[in-house]
Amino acid sequence: MAISDSFHIYDTTLRDGAQQEGLNLSVHDKLTIARHLDELGVGFIEGGWPGANPKDTEFFKLAQTELKLKNATFVAFGATRRPNVKAADDALLRALQDSGAPAVTLVAKSHDRHVDLALKTHLDENLAMIRDSIHFLKAGGQRVFLDAEHFFDGYRSNPAYALEVVRVAAEAGADVVALCDTNGGMLPDELSQIVHDVLGKSYARLGIHCHNDTGCAIANSLAAVAAGATHVQGTLNGYGERTGNADLVSIIANLQLKKKQQVLPEGALHEAFRISHAVAEVTNVAPSQRQPYVGISAFAHKAGLHASAIKVDPALYQHEDPSSVGNDMRMLVSDMAGRASIELKSQELGVDIGTNKEVVTRVVERVKEMEAVALLRSCRCLIRASASRRVRWKTRTFLYCRIMGDRCR
Ligand SMILES: [Zn+2]
Repeated sequence: MAISDSFHIYDTTLRDGAQQEGLNLSVHDKLTIARHLDELGVGFIEGGWPGANPKDTEFFKLAQTELKLKNATFVAFGATRRPNVKAADDALLRALQDSGAPAVTLVAKSHDRHVDLALKTHLDENLAMIRDSIHFLKAGGQRVFLDAEHFFDGYRSNPAYALEVVRVAAEAGADVVALCDTNGGMLPDELSQIVHDVLGKSYARLGIHCHNDTGCAIANSLAAVAAGATHVQGTLNGYGERTGNADLVSIIANLQLKKKQQVLPEGALHEAFRISHAVAEVTNVAPSQRQPYVGISAFAHKAGLHASAIKVDPALYQHEDPSSVGNDMRMLVSDMAGRASIELKSQELGVDIGTNKEVVTRVVERVKEMEAVALLRSCRCLIRASASRRVRWKTRTFLYCRIMGDRCR
């Protein structure tokens, strides 16, 4: 099923995500990640800033021949023209036009203080820069989105001007104006109210771009969607500078599983776990075990009480079926484990001792002894040894565990 244009999942891992401290991507890495993102089924992949960064220029050149995207549209990122020059004379705008990307996202100032202090120009000239740049790229046949930088802080400072930026961009032909929480300081209630206000006062199609400095990037993105935004930007695994960008994996899973809004091609969400980890291999950033939905611990259970209920029905202690995102339920075995934990763990490990009460009791007791002195390293070895009558399991298990380490935990 082709994804409709009425709602956009827009990925900026290769541009904004690559700003993360310690994350460095080669051109080859970027091509590999783009293929994974396309496989996940995102609608747009922002590749970088051609013309401003030699590596990104090379990437866009190679992408034209090496990237055969089946789901996503490729997007080049850049800024509006410089103050007091014609759009056609701006080398960076021309590089966006020459990038071969069918769509361009232009970043523009929407906070009056930034126009004054950072851009060092007049408020009217900033509006002219937005208008001219959009006209220039649209005339060349590209689709244009506008990232309204520092929009929410700008709206607090001078709402009339921030709104004027949205109005001018929409009038000039921007398909989407993405409101950016660039400093990441917003909370969902106020952000949602502002999105609602802007929708009521303009006819622009709105998008949302959130950073995670308050720990609310995902919540803010969802609040904006609930208020009417139909284009949501984020990065895979929440990569990004400082505390990161909104994690697109969680946003997608929340929209599809909680809000019943189909935003990926049919069946693609099942690939989320695999693709999240495949991209982590490329970025060389250790995946967070506790990442919602796709973290290795996202559906791991330790408490004995939970295990007893899960044995009856896993849904009693899980908010979703882990297989919906390609993840698995895991039982963790510790001194808090009861009989149910051991039975479920033995099934998970393929050493099913579920019906043998004597062995289950022996394993439970042994786990508690070993955890007390922090010796339990491998549950599989312990269950195997406990199930065997021939081994002197007390010493043998200890030995197995030391030799095997964490390999078969
Ligand atoms: Zn950003």
